[in-house]
Amino acid sequence: ATPTAVMVGTGVGASQGVLIKGGQALESAHKVNCIILDKTGTLTVGKPVVVSTRLLRNMVLRDFYDVVAATEVNSEHPLAKAIVEYAKKFRDDEENPMWPAAREFISITGHGVKAIVDDREVIIGNKGLMLEYKIAVPVEAEDLLAEIEAMAQTGILVAIDGQLTGVLAISDPLKPGAHEVISILKSMNVRSVMVTGDNWGTARSIATQAGIETVMAEAKPEQKAEKVKELQASGYTVGMVGDGINDSPALVAADVGMAIGAGTDIAIEAADIVLMKSNLADVITAIDLSQKTFSRIR
Ligand code: ADP
Ligand code: MG
Repeated sequence: ATPTAVMVGTGVGASQGVLIKGGQALESAHKVNCIILDKTGTLTVGKPVVVSTRLLRNMVLRDFYDVVAATEVNSEHPLAKAIVEYAKKFRDDEENPMWPAAREFISITGHGVKAIVDDREVIIGNKGLMLEYKIAVPVEAEDLLAEIEAMAQTGILVAIDGQLTGVLAISDPLKPGAHEVISILKSMNVRSVMVTGDNWGTARSIATQAGIETVMAEAKPEQKAEKVKELQASGYTVGMVGDGINDSPALVAADVGMAIGAGTDIAIEAADIVLMKSNLADVITAIDLSQKTFSRIR
């Protein structure tokens, strides 16, 4: 393609909300034959909401949510925001809730959070976190988690003073149209793979809904990047689509990193292409545009 064609290509992209950072990104896109997609915020809407709570101990729901929110209010995680939002419903001062004071807050990346609230130790997160702190997870909770994950929701465990006290179910549905995008990619001979920090159960359920066969769950940011390299080593030209800080190593490692426009600044900086409309179908727009610019018979 001539420099003019590349300029036209990037210009057309920009007019359609597909920001292509340079000729190399535009050129690589048409060679992509494998797309790795992050789950949360990329394949899913990314606005999680609490849909149910099960208490395993005798405790007033309002008191339970007070200590939970007091802990989670210190976290930036989307799940934390969903939990705090839900906890507000139990307060009279819903608009401007005064949560109990939390101290010694710590965030365990990819696992959850911990703090001391009213001299009670509060641990909130996944099963791995409970194991780490030697919190017994009763069969009742295990069964609940399995049920929650089968519904493509995320189960969050809450331990208070060393005892598992509650299980929350958080829903973050698949984006409308995500399944269709995956089918179109398949028809273009582009393989789709999903990677996520979320648990295997939820990950598999969401992947099934999206029509994605290959899944990697409970993945740390570096492991997402390793997955990119592994697929490259087996001969694929890899596109990575993500929205989070935890996707940025993978976005950099990919042949073409594509960031969701509504995503974090760090992901947008790490990417070669930004999908400004946060529309998954624009992955196809980018590949199409690249094909039109570079695979013309000359
Ligand atoms: P994701 O790719 O799903 O955003 P993360 O690595 O950020 O993955 O988190 C992985 C898991 O760790 C979450 O699904 C959740 O179970 C748990 N987790 C992380 N942060 C929190 C938090 N603030 N509160 C409760 N659970 C959390
Ligand atoms: Mg994400």
